[in-house]
Amino acid sequence: MDSNCIFCKILNNEIPSKKIYEDGDFLAMLDIAPATKGHVLIVPKEHATTMSDLSDEKLSKILILAKKIIEAMKKVHGFTDYNIIQNNGRLAGQTVAHYHLHLIPRYSVDEVSLWSPHEDDPSVTEEMAEQVRKYL
Ligand code: AMP
Ligand code: ZN
Repeated sequence: MDSNCIFCKILNNEIPSKKIYEDGDFLAMLDIAPATKGHVLIVPKEHATTMSDLSDEKLSKILILAKKIIEAMKKVHGFTDYNIIQNNGRLAGQTVAHYHLHLIPRYSVDEVSLWSPHEDDPSVTEEMAEQVRKYL
């Protein structure tokens, strides 16, 4: 627990939230400023800032829970398409420094915009792929 962290305060019941699911490892709640109708956040009870800090144990469980919650959300909101988004660090758009996964329903008309693709980049070489492979 981090006493300055808003999600730790929610987990600690110090501030209210619209909870939809809770178990020993995670809490899922409605986002206070939803990207689309039904937007849910899954928050691990363990305080970790980014994916790099979260335990492999929690990381391996969270997508399975996301799938379960998405299927329940589909029944309520009637969507079929959705984004699973997770921001790591300020430059990536992370505003709450406690790891969380966004479950965002998509509708035929909504205002979510993701990245725009660019032209093929000639500076991205096979050597770069090899450099990364060396660390794996
Ligand atoms: P991110 O930008 O990936 O860090 O996402 C943070 C998300 O947390 C945003 O979508 C906020 O709307 C949401 N959020 C912030 N405070 C609260 C809160 N008290 N209850 C529910 N969601 C929150
Ligand atoms: Zn926290």
